[in-house]
Amino acid sequence: MSLHAELHRHLGGAVVPRIFWRFLHRTGHPLADRYPTYEGFEEFFTAPRSSLESYLELHTLAESVQQEETLAYFVSKLVRGAFVFESIAYLELRHTPYLRTDPEAATDWRIARMRDIVSCIGLAGDQPEYPLVFRQILCMHSRLPYEVNRAIVELAASMPEYVCGVDLAGPDRLYGARLHEFVELFELARALGLKTTGHVFETPDGVYPQLLPHLDRIGHGVQIPLRHPELLPQLAQRGQCLEICPTTYLKTGTLASLDELRTVFERCEEAGVDIAICTDNAGLHNVRLPFEFENLLIQDIIDFRQLRACQDAAFRHAFAWPHKEPPRELLFQAAGSPDTNVTRAHGLGPSGGKDTS
Ligand SMILES: [Zn+2]
Repeated sequence: MSLHAELHRHLGGAVVPRIFWRFLHRTGHPLADRYPTYEGFEEFFTAPRSSLESYLELHTLAESVQQEETLAYFVSKLVRGAFVFESIAYLELRHTPYLRTDPEAATDWRIARMRDIVSCIGLAGDQPEYPLVFRQILCMHSRLPYEVNRAIVELAASMPEYVCGVDLAGPDRLYGARLHEFVELFELARALGLKTTGHVFETPDGVYPQLLPHLDRIGHGVQIPLRHPELLPQLAQRGQCLEICPTTYLKTGTLASLDELRTVFERCEEAGVDIAICTDNAGLHNVRLPFEFENLLIQDIIDFRQLRACQDAAFRHAFAWPHKEPPRELLFQAAGSPDTNVTRAHGLGPSGGKDTS
């Protein structure tokens, strides 16, 4: 049994297509007419896109359906699925609360409603039948104005019972003109005691080394080992972890094949930079977290030793996992083995040999 920590999953892409399609039909949503059969909807929903921007349009569609009155439904279903089908023990779910409010309303009203959105998601995620550790990451967004992004950071800091960090999302080519704003807001977040992550170095457009010192983890960062490996020692020094989401790079056209990730794992291991495997949008992709690992194993991109190291790294870099150890270690201790060193796999250190069994 493997228990997982999921560090990078968007609410907008977290609902599997069947739940989404059933909801559209049950509620008589206009989209239901466009997709009378589930198969047609799944094909549309999970199809690869030509770019990050066209991929992000799907989030806009999901956000239009996942508004305040329906959020509890979607969050309860995704938490149940994460626990039952993915063995997820710890889940950080990220979203931009402003985009869940009425788009017709005034900015001030929408900002004020964000607190209710976060509470609603937090309450819906707390399900005794599916007891995973559940926290939210609130995303600043590159299309939103400064005052909204600042309100998102301040809200995140004021709700520690539900929120463990902040992120920067949205089209990455829009960051450039506003870098000073985002640096300031990340600094504010840290000053308020929040953890930080950001979508950077995901695509060649997202190369912003100025943001790196302000992040605890790096959302994707796949371009760093691939095109800017000279930055890896700085990441290792800061103890930063890459949130690698393999299927995303195929869906957005960022990578032609998962083969390129072999270089990512090798260079990060050499440099001592941890990697957490994540789904990004498990629902949009229709690929759940255990299958992200399985895909990498089947294609010989990682072996089982690397798999364990990534699983443990995810818990180590989780913003709110309440234990020093990952669950595998806790279970091992509880099982009472006489030699607790046998199955420990610490990091991606050079001492571990290949384990492909
Ligand atoms: Zn993402």
